[in-house]
Amino acid sequence: MKILLATSELFPFSKSGGLADMVSSLALSLGELGHEVQVITPFYQCVRDKFPDIPEGSWMTHVTMGGGEVFGALRRHVWAPGVEVLFLEHGGFYDRPGLYGEGGQDYSDNAARFVFLNKAIWHWVRYGSWQPDIVHVHDWQTALFPLLWKHLEKGSSGEGHSPSTVLTIHNLAYQGIFPSHQYPLLDLPWDYFNEDNLEYYGQWNCLKAGILYADYLTTVSPQYAREIRTAEFGCNLEGVLDKRRNHLRGILNGVDYGEWRTTKNPWLPVSFQLKSIGFKGKMKHRLQEECGLEPTSDVPLFANIGRVVEQKGMDILLPTLRHLLENGTPMQFIQLGTGDPYYERQFEALAAEFPDKVAVTISYNHGLAHRIEAGADFFVMPSRFEPCGLNQLYSLRYGTIPLVRATGGLQDSIVDISENIAEANGLKFSHYSVEALLHVFEQAMHLFEDKHLLGKFRRNGMTRDFSMRRTAESYLEVYLSLPGSGHKAD
Ligand code: ADP
Repeated sequence: MKILLATSELFPFSKSGGLADMVSSLALSLGELGHEVQVITPFYQCVRDKFPDIPEGSWMTHVTMGGGEVFGALRRHVWAPGVEVLFLEHGGFYDRPGLYGEGGQDYSDNAARFVFLNKAIWHWVRYGSWQPDIVHVHDWQTALFPLLWKHLEKGSSGEGHSPSTVLTIHNLAYQGIFPSHQYPLLDLPWDYFNEDNLEYYGQWNCLKAGILYADYLTTVSPQYAREIRTAEFGCNLEGVLDKRRNHLRGILNGVDYGEWRTTKNPWLPVSFQLKSIGFKGKMKHRLQEECGLEPTSDVPLFANIGRVVEQKGMDILLPTLRHLLENGTPMQFIQLGTGDPYYERQFEALAAEFPDKVAVTISYNHGLAHRIEAGADFFVMPSRFEPCGLNQLYSLRYGTIPLVRATGGLQDSIVDISENIAEANGLKFSHYSVEALLHVFEQAMHLFEDKHLLGKFRRNGMTRDFSMRRTAESYLEVYLSLPGSGHKAD
């Protein structure tokens, strides 16, 4: 099968979150399974800087946007057997320090930047030398493609090539909503500017267009697929999603175990496996030293990595930590992440107040993320909502016990002892409150003292298979269920 994946970020070339990891490992797994894969993604400044050998553009893109012509180039890079990356180059749009913005502010021309990406995808699929059977788009940044394709191909004879389209929603909270005065960028008739199409409270919504026009929808865990059809999690799109429920499936993300491995990992100073789990203690000491904490085995080391925003539960994590620390709880805590300046400052204040117990790094650091995953005893994810979450899957592989809220992919991947004693691999709480989080921290303290049970949790985590191969096979089932020609389902 020929599969074109379209994404606004792709690890290791560009990354702001789980989207980059997921598309990267999906592409590589599909390639390993013998399929022909292309990934189309912007040629950002970080890609230019880190990968200077990517060849010059060999395919010229020119599309109409807002009535004028816009030009770009596709730089073709063979990434792995059967997997090619097409980097869309446009100096003005993508050669910037950020992917989506800088200093906490979105770029003001994001509508144009991503409409151009969608139009360039259309141009490649329509006129390129390689005709995909499936175009699989991800999140709002590429969600306009199914609508553009269907609109632009409407007048054609129907005999030409027409791929099926799949949209994966990685996070419904980000929808790509733009004001009506930017609608002309799309060059679509105003017929589409109504509530049955992409109009959304007087503006236009890229994700809504994808939900309505993709042949099939997926999201990144079965639990999140159920949640997004409710008012609590639906971000005002629950009605549209419910309409398409027969074409919506949740598929849990998988892990690239080539990257996330505990032995021969260039990011880790110590190797360990289940049969040599004692070395994980050594890894913990190395991490404590690196973060300026006392290297000790006597207290549990908790950690969190990720965007420090409300979605990730920072508003309950910070008061919980403060309570534990002010009460002299024997523990250490490491935080790595950037995000909302308000939460960043609160973490820094906590580290300043409890320097022997708390270490905070406000930056993006891939290597340190590996070492934290490997060296911590417990990984804390008190998310308000979590479409899939990857860090708990990395933690499990690294013998680190996730302490999570029962939502989205956290609910699907973590087994609490109250659910199944034999398969327990983490600790879970449901109610979104400081009290509930405190209670689960206390459970973790007890578990830390019970080395036999701790070992059992680790074994269950390290041996459970969350490989991307299984995820890729589920996506293949979806691709195979679709007709070769795209038509509006429902
Ligand atoms: P989301 O996509 O919602 O941000 P996920 O848990 O799905 O959350 O994925 C986040 C990914 O980004 C993980 O691979 C995580 O380790 C990584 N990550 C987030 N922040 C940082 C950071 N500051 N340094 C290194 N890696 C980070």
